[in-house]
Amino acid sequence: MKSTASFSKSSETQASALTKVSVLGATGSIGLKTLEIVRQFPQKFQIEALSCKSSIEQLREQIIEFKPRIVCVDTSGQASELKETFSIGQGSPETEFVWGREGLKQISSDDETDLVVAGIVGAAGLEPTYSAVEAGKIVAVANKEPLVMAGELFMQTAKKTGAKLLPTDSEHNAIFQSLHNEPSERIARLILTASGGPFRDLPLDKFEQITLAETLNHPNWEMGRKITIDSATMMNKGLEIIEAQWLFNVSVEKIDVLMQRESIIHSMVEFIDGSFLAQMGLPDMRVPIAYCLGWPERLPLKIPRLDPVALNALHFEAIDTQRFPCLSLSLKAAKQGGGSPAVLNGANEEVVAAFLNEEIRFVDIFKTLATVMGKLDETLHYAEPECLDEIPNFLLNIKSLEDAIQADQWGRKQVGKVLELIN
Ligand code: NAD
Ligand code: MG
Repeated sequence: MKSTASFSKSSETQASALTKVSVLGATGSIGLKTLEIVRQFPQKFQIEALSCKSSIEQLREQIIEFKPRIVCVDTSGQASELKETFSIGQGSPETEFVWGREGLKQISSDDETDLVVAGIVGAAGLEPTYSAVEAGKIVAVANKEPLVMAGELFMQTAKKTGAKLLPTDSEHNAIFQSLHNEPSERIARLILTASGGPFRDLPLDKFEQITLAETLNHPNWEMGRKITIDSATMMNKGLEIIEAQWLFNVSVEKIDVLMQRESIIHSMVEFIDGSFLAQMGLPDMRVPIAYCLGWPERLPLKIPRLDPVALNALHFEAIDTQRFPCLSLSLKAAKQGGGSPAVLNGANEEVVAAFLNEEIRFVDIFKTLATVMGKLDETLHYAEPECLDEIPNFLLNIKSLEDAIQADQWGRKQVGKVLELIN
């Protein structure tokens, strides 16, 4: 029988007044908002560990302010340099500096940490988020890509270790709040809302001329660059469907997407009795992050509040899939299951990076991904019977992190081939 993962904080954590938090991706959009909340509630949270890949200067300031016990950076050179600076008396001489993949694993599974904020962007968060789950932590999951790549594995491991995956993405957090522990049998439908991004009204014949700057200019949300591009193509919503499927144990067929221009209704649940429950508020990621940090309590957050009287109207519209064809690609990958979501996710990261480097145009994002997913289709469905054994297992099933990484690499490699032809 299907049931929603049950969410309850362990009695030890409830008893201790101070939650010890490790932030993966501390210098990013999610990381900075997390630290803002920690700063507001010093009596509730203590920073144990911080990590980042870039913005070392910002990290330096964070180390001075939050005095973490461990810090993870990208390279051993960065770690030695920071160690030297801090050993000569600036702030926190006790801080341990680690680096790279092993360092990230160390901080996400660290014994002293209660709660890990998964705020790295992309597939790079796969291993550290999984380490946190293996170590049975409470994990605030903002970083959606690992769940897209290996959602089933994450949920199975969390069941074994007692880790709690707290949905931090605004839509999933809205569903988490609306569901409030009701079992998944009572769900008729999950409705994820989408703002529609910067091109929701642009005439389709203007899409060829879209620039990077226009794409980075999101109408409602301020976020990192990769997710901002994904929001403009609506690949972000596609990834969120796959994420929701695992977090709430609901089949893809029961997940819909609606455009909600104002980004005030952050998502809704339709129950089997015809009731709809939604969560609303200003578009501000501090709310879902604080909900996860404080969970199962609510924090008295000091932020601008929604004034319902000032809202003229709330608009809901069906998604125009001609405008947002990436959504159909991700739905297909979700239904196919196995390695398909990881292939799509890896391929998407690669094309988004190429677009951010201004190597390809906006419209090439979908074209390239459609070609890659066509190649995947060919490999999966049109292999000659005598060649069936040659289909790599990671395209059919994700049973380990290694499988997810291989499927991701397969997708990226295909993008490389397509882009060689374009350029
Ligand atoms: P960002 O680009 O602003 O920040 C990413 C952080 O991860 C930075 O600290 C960066 O140094 C670090 N990082 C990047 N690549 C890394 C690597 N290879 N190894 C280790 N660290 C690395 O991204 P963001 O907007 O904060 O998004 C983070 C995640 O949260 C994404 O998966 C995104 O989809 C999700 N999310 C973000 C928002 C938002 O409002 N920003 C909302 C919902 C979900
Ligand atoms: Mg979201």
